[in-house]
Amino acid sequence: MTYNTEQRSVLLSFLSTNPDKTFSAKEIVAALAESQISKSAVYRNLADLESENKIKKVSKNGSREAFYQFVDISECKNHIHLSCTKCGMIFHMEDDAARKLVHTMEENSGFEISVGETTLYGVCKKCVGAK
Ligand SMILES: [Zn+2]
Ligand SMILES: [Zn+2]
Repeated sequence: MTYNTEQRSVLLSFLSTNPDKTFSAKEIVAALAESQISKSAVYRNLADLESENKIKKVSKNGSREAFYQFVDISECKNHIHLSCTKCGMIFHMEDDAARKLVHTMEENSGFEISVGETTLYGVCKKCVGAK
């Protein structure tokens, strides 16, 4: 294993153990400070992982900074997502209610929905409360 792929796996494992959080590149650099990963390596690996669909780049309202969140794209093919326009968080809708909603829409419209590519935008519970 080259040093490069090691850095990459440290970065990916950090993000994948926190799938319900978004991190800016700066926060990731700080969190991985102990692993001795340089800032430029973090930025480079983030860009790579994003282009490979291993992580998602999201943006928050009022911030020009990019944030990153781990998503398991193979799991994500099977459900719709909610995306918060305030904090950028992506939520995976794997519950029965979401499945029923998709099913009902399909029944009523005769339209076969590509669930993995479907994202509903709005404001999450946490951000609604923070108003
Ligand atoms: Zn998902
Ligand atoms: Zn939010």
